[in-house]
Amino acid sequence: MVNMTGKEILAATGGTLLCGREDTVLEHISIDSRTMKGNDLFVPIIGEKVDAHRFIDQAFEHGAAAVLTSEHDVMESEKPWIRVDDTKKALQAVGSFYRDRLSLPLIGITGSVGKTTTREMVACALSSRYQVYKTPGNSNSQIGLPITLCEITPEDEIGVIELGMSEPGELTVIARIARIHMAVITNIGVAHIEQLGSRENIYREKLTIQDGLCENGILFLNGDDDMLKDTKAKEGCRTIFYGTGENSDYRAVDIHLEDGFPVFTAVHNQQKVSVRLSVMGSHNILNAMVSLAVAAENGIPMEEAAKSLMSFNGYKNRQQIYDTGTFTVIDDTYNASPVSMKAGLEVLSSITKAKRKIAVLADMKELGDRSPEYHYEIGTYIAAHPVDCVVTLGELAGEIARAVRENAPEITVKEFMEQEPLTAYLKEELKTGDCVLFKGSNSMKLGQVAEQFH
Ligand code: ATP
Ligand code: MG
Repeated sequence: MVNMTGKEILAATGGTLLCGREDTVLEHISIDSRTMKGNDLFVPIIGEKVDAHRFIDQAFEHGAAAVLTSEHDVMESEKPWIRVDDTKKALQAVGSFYRDRLSLPLIGITGSVGKTTTREMVACALSSRYQVYKTPGNSNSQIGLPITLCEITPEDEIGVIELGMSEPGELTVIARIARIHMAVITNIGVAHIEQLGSRENIYREKLTIQDGLCENGILFLNGDDDMLKDTKAKEGCRTIFYGTGENSDYRAVDIHLEDGFPVFTAVHNQQKVSVRLSVMGSHNILNAMVSLAVAAENGIPMEEAAKSLMSFNGYKNRQQIYDTGTFTVIDDTYNASPVSMKAGLEVLSSITKAKRKIAVLADMKELGDRSPEYHYEIGTYIAAHPVDCVVTLGELAGEIARAVRENAPEITVKEFMEQEPLTAYLKEELKTGDCVLFKGSNSMKLGQVAEQFH
């Protein structure tokens, strides 16, 4: 953040200065009292389990320069305490105020699956000509997004930010704060269906990204998605489709995989460009196509953007490939929903050089009442793919095992409820030439198992 004063925070939030000086300079925003970067404004968030107001003293001990509070009325301190009604809303107001000071164009990315990967690939494609700011980590929520915006500096020429959503109404709030020039919707899946009820509801919610899309903005839509393909941008904005079909403005044709790595031709109007990706999985073809489209609409020729994209070789625990010398590990343990689990399985299936293809799959969480059904469906998907062995972790994943047994009795199936026996089994079982995919929801901690085999 570039210097904001206490006075500006007061103006942004409509708060009251309880003590301290309003010319205090602030350079960062922090919601964690243990990690200050220097001249931080500490914002205590009231969470479901913890009210962070109790960490205010600790925040000052760690160097906070000022704090917001919704709990105190009178204070005596040299450092500024700013009284606001609601600290989360105040944080969003600060993000919005800071956004107003920035003139760079922002590209907002949402969708059920692939936001972070797409964000990284779009940023990579843009980096040949621009200094690109991108959301760090997965900071895409009502709290993370305003903090993210405040880290943008005047040196940044364009920003690629991730907009997440886990409950109704969230996306419109953050999109309005971000005020984006271009919006991307990667797909409509069933992630978070527990909170949102139906895929139709998810679709409607995702489209609210347009509430923050500037006039004359562009909405990039996945033309391969059954719900997005007939969608139009709001009035005054353009719609651009990307995908693999004739209906897309930017499309990938002549697609094939070379050892799992996608090779294809990107087509737009009369232009044709050969593309070879350094990440596996055909879902990355779509991520690449939207990256080329966004780059082109920002003045970067597809050929140049495609060259930049070749340097992208994956992002933390999202289908990262480790070749241990004896066997190959695909660590895709960051998270899982049906769409991404199928994407992971497809990558596993495409590794033709593997002697045996082993899928180690844990529960997919937050899928609501139909959870067992979604898991069973994964099992039938596996039955139609060249997988040799399925190892499951957790009760829901047991439904995957059941479906595999019922539909493809030739596949070896093994079920576990805990990590330790699973790890021991794999240590015993994995042989030279095997390829093993690890995939499951974050909370299943399958990543800790996978790490032992990197
Ligand atoms: P979150 O909502 O947790 O932030 P996200 O939308 O940012 O997730 P990623 O972290 O990019 O998603 O990817 C999640 C998983 O989906 C990874 O396993 C990744 O390999 C896979 N994936 C990435 N892009 C796509 C895509 N376009 N379609 C299907 N799966 C994808
Ligand atoms: Mg993400």
